[in-house]
Amino acid sequence: MKLIVIGGVAAGMSAASKLKRVNPTAEVVVYEQGAFVSYGACGLPYYVSGENEDYTKMIARTKEQFHEQGIRVCTEHQVIKLSPERKQVMVRNLQTGQLFLDTYDKLMIATGTTPILPPLEGLSLNNIHVLKTLEDGITLREKVVQPEHQRVVIVGAGYIGMELAEAMHQLGKQVRIIEQMDRILLPFDQEITDIASNHLKEKQLSLHLNESVKSFQGNGQVEQVTTSKGSYPADLVVMSIGVRPATEFLQGTGIQLAKNGAIVVDREMRTSVEDIYAAGDCAEVYHYVKQENTYLPLGTNANKCGRIAGENIAGAHQKYIGTLGSAALKLIDLELARTGLSEQEAKDLAIPYQVSFVQAANHPGYYPNQTPIWIKLICEQGTKRVLGAQAIGNQGVVLRIDMFAIAIQNQMPADQLGMTDLCYAPPFAGVWDAVHIASNAIK
Ligand SMILES: Cc1cc2nc3c(=O)[nH]c(=O)nc-3n(C[C@H](O)[C@H](O)[C@H](O)COP(=O)(O)OP(=O)(O)OC[C@H]3O[C@@H](n4cnc5c(N)ncnc54)[C@H](O)[C@@H]3O)c2cc1C
Repeated sequence: MKLIVIGGVAAGMSAASKLKRVNPTAEVVVYEQGAFVSYGACGLPYYVSGENEDYTKMIARTKEQFHEQGIRVCTEHQVIKLSPERKQVMVRNLQTGQLFLDTYDKLMIATGTTPILPPLEGLSLNNIHVLKTLEDGITLREKVVQPEHQRVVIVGAGYIGMELAEAMHQLGKQVRIIEQMDRILLPFDQEITDIASNHLKEKQLSLHLNESVKSFQGNGQVEQVTTSKGSYPADLVVMSIGVRPATEFLQGTGIQLAKNGAIVVDREMRTSVEDIYAAGDCAEVYHYVKQENTYLPLGTNANKCGRIAGENIAGAHQKYIGTLGSAALKLIDLELARTGLSEQEAKDLAIPYQVSFVQAANHPGYYPNQTPIWIKLICEQGTKRVLGAQAIGNQGVVLRIDMFAIAIQNQMPADQLGMTDLCYAPPFAGVWDAVHIASNAIK
């Protein structure tokens, strides 16, 4: 049995490794257009900021280590065409330009995403970057260490934009964030994002909401950003307005794609074409609460779904339990985390719901360094089943949201969670923890 994997980062290498573990005699070939495989892109902002000075630490396993495992990894090889009827891919060796064909018994598509870059005037000026690949991170780090690059403009206030804003702030840059929507971090509800926006302003980051970038000016390299509301000086720009699934090369293959280009898969990661599997950011993912497919390009899903795909390629029938869209980020002195549905999503799905929004604390006031934690909880009306939760605070936010994730996947009602026997000792939590307080506020 021969498996070809297209894309060698999270989902692709998870599938390749799992298949090889389950079926050591399988032949596995990975084509990756970049120079690196199997790295944690989630670590890139912390390499840019210098918190991690060694990018090789982000690489989980090298090409050579995969070779030792019996997985043939071809970096700088791009798959440009797929012919499912012949079970064939056309590959371009990016170093030599040579084209060749390869055939498979099973195919795994794990091509991830491409950053969205609208055709703005001046976009090709130097010092306008994206942060997607390890190569992008290495280039951006080279730019941020140059002292003349002081004025940084971040375009787009999603997860990556915000992590970069923090990285640039940490480096002592003057940071300006331009976001066309009326608030930052849309997967969170407004109660949470208002606290985060105020924090950015307190820390002297300049936040421009309801403003969209129109063009860039400069002489060789970017010097100015022009938006719908004004013009601002810039030495360095990072575009982080979103991503789209890297699936253009699948047009006309018969593989079903969603409206945004994501590959439609079932819970076993099978596409609409026999013997072709897909997972990770290039594909849709089943949502546990929505009970339907959604698009959530996160490393959490890519690793788990890639592994399930590998197992199923070997002959199993594992189903993904479903994503909750659990995600967290650090924003200077704050931690933010979310899981399940936001209030907006519950509204959009017409699910009857009730919410609580509480201010609790990480631990009792008589123990040093008490800090507030704000929690918003969304429960099903009547049953009080937990549907979603979000929180923000200085400390202890993420592990609390993880408790809500487990409650959602176990269909727990808020009143049961409000009486769960959680750990209590003054350095860690109150006898009534923030999770209890938010849960018991659902009446
Ligand atoms: C800066 C940053 C921070 C992040 N932080 C987090 C986080 O904190 N938590 C979280 O859950 N997620 C985070 N993510 C998202 C996470 O990194 C992705 O969800 C994950 O990497 C997706 O894995 P993937 O294998 O599906 O795709 P990718 O990692 O995008 O890998 C796909 C690979 O396929 C290759 N490829 C594409 N087309 C072809 C082709 N035709 N031929 C050959 N190769 C091809 C690409 O070069 C790429 O290397 C972050 C992402 C970034 C960029």
